Amino acid sequence: MHIDWRREVNDATAVKIVCEECEQEVAVAIRANGRLLCRACAEALGQSGREVSYEKILHQVLLDMRGRLDDWAGLLERSCELRRQGRGNNGVLLEDRDWNRLVERYRRLEEYYLALHRVFRRRDFPIPDPGWRSTYVERVINCGYTSKLGD
Ligand SMILES: [Zn+2]
Repeated sequence: MHIDWRREVNDATAVKIVCEECEQEVAVAIRANGRLLCRACAEALGQSGREVSYEKILHQVLLDMRGRLDDWAGLLERSCELRRQGRGNNGVLLEDRDWNRLVERYRRLEEYYLALHRVFRRRDFPIPDPGWRSTYVERVINCGYTSKLGD
């Protein structure tokens, strides 16, 4: 299933799980062959699969964003290492302009991540592995950058 996490987070209060067959909104859907179906359509089409709830989807979006942010922290660490070896300003041998664009992109991703956290709190969903956040922030700060996720 494709998750448009940007829309998911920006429009979190309006997010719905919609059956891809009858287009009705449901709280819990069945994921079968890459499609989201309501129980009735899944049954009518003879499809079976795993249940998908709104909470599970948000959980998946959160993990997906953490994966991206971990990749970013990893890139900062590699860049930092190269810089120590005296190879280029940002250490990754990107043009400054491209590097700045990358930094901007991850700042926006951090903002999305914070927005997602607020959705979890608003809906009383427990945040999985809450220690992830401080580990991430430490990694970024160790590289001499700031993070919107804390200090
Ligand atoms: Zn349906």
